[in-house]
Amino acid sequence: MSAPSLQVLIVGAGPTGLAAALFLARRGVAVRIVDEAAGPTTTSKALAVNPRTLELLADTGVADRVLGEGQRIDTIRVAHQGRTTATLRPCWDRIAPGRPMTILPQARTETLLAEALADLGVRPEYGAGLTGLTQTADSITVTLSRGETVTASLLLGADGAHSETRHALGLDFPGDASDEPWHLIDVAIEGAPQDEARIEFQRAGPLITLPFSGGVFRIIGFGADLLPRLPAGWKAGPVLWQSDFKVSHRMVPTMAVGRVALAGDAAHIHSPIGGRGMNLGIEDAFVFAACAADALNGDLSRIADYARVRHAVDAAWVKTSRGLTGFVAGQSLPVRALKRIAPLIAASVPGLIDQALKRGMGLDHPTAVR
Ligand SMILES: Cc1cc2nc3c(=O)[nH]c(=O)nc-3n(C[C@H](O)[C@H](O)[C@H](O)COP(=O)(O)OP(=O)(O)OC[C@H]3O[C@@H](n4cnc5c(N)ncnc54)[C@H](O)[C@@H]3O)c2cc1C
Repeated sequence: MSAPSLQVLIVGAGPTGLAAALFLARRGVAVRIVDEAAGPTTTSKALAVNPRTLELLADTGVADRVLGEGQRIDTIRVAHQGRTTATLRPCWDRIAPGRPMTILPQARTETLLAEALADLGVRPEYGAGLTGLTQTADSITVTLSRGETVTASLLLGADGAHSETRHALGLDFPGDASDEPWHLIDVAIEGAPQDEARIEFQRAGPLITLPFSGGVFRIIGFGADLLPRLPAGWKAGPVLWQSDFKVSHRMVPTMAVGRVALAGDAAHIHSPIGGRGMNLGIEDAFVFAACAADALNGDLSRIADYARVRHAVDAAWVKTSRGLTGFVAGQSLPVRALKRIAPLIAASVPGLIDQALKRGMGLDHPTAVR
């Protein structure tokens, strides 16, 4: 039986799907990318583009555009009830030369990925949701909401936390969810430092601020209203976007079944503390593209390699994220004491910040898959 002319169908045109399509198209793989939405997202959602993502996107031209448009972070300030307890200055030249942690709204990152993809002749097809999926030893066949049937050699489900691909594979999504909603606000602020990420532990709960370029800031926290809790001297202007969300930590038991793989939020979700969500999906996309290219050349075991390698990395981060979030949100006496001491220790032990940043930004493991 001859192989289908479509080599890879990608379901979902979020950052994970777009990055996978880009990495595959650059390898000369015949790819289509479909999305059930009417068009691209317009909201800022994930902001942090980390050094590992910039490294993976370097050859695509997208990394330079992110660096050109985004806001680099040179200081991380930790405060307690209004008083600074540590000022951490990551040395990007040592940790990831030329690739500082950069803040850019997710909608803009997706636009840059889509433009690079369009340069290779591939465009996301909107209004085309996956509604059914079957596979044989040789191919996968899906039905789309617009009535089309598509056959391909491989499928990547990058269709987000409520993934229809994951449901079609019959996979669980075990984990837990918090009851307390976190608040998220994008707001113009005067009087705040432009290159500084800040976390303040307040009696009312944590308050995290991240700068976009151009005087707009993301505020994340829980508890009482966030804006009245901003540091002294910061003056909030118009609110541009706000949303409430509940934090979940979930990990799929396997990231591939036969010719179908999962990536990004379809396979793992966790809190935004650490800013890894979108970045982890782009890492998945990069590794999937390398393994899919080998699979299309006859070695289908490479899809199982993808699943094994990425499950280990992704599950480890979900676990770390759960611990970090519990620490940041925790209000017990020992945790409150640790919040005062931990930043001081981090700032005073040589190499500790570098190590923590490398781990948090995916620089602690190779991207090649053996
Ligand atoms: C309000 C909000 C704020 C966030 N803030 C942060 C943050 O500060 N930091 C951070 O790291 N992360 C944050 N995240 C998470 C981050 O946005 C995700 O981790 C990231 O978008 C995951 O990318 P993805 O491509 O895997 O999935 P998604 O971005 O969810 O993309 C999935 C795509 O699949 C499509 N789709 C769904 N079902 C189907 C179907 N059946 N057929 C075809 N297409 C389908 C969807 O339309 C969508 O375009 C936030 C998320 C939200 C919602």
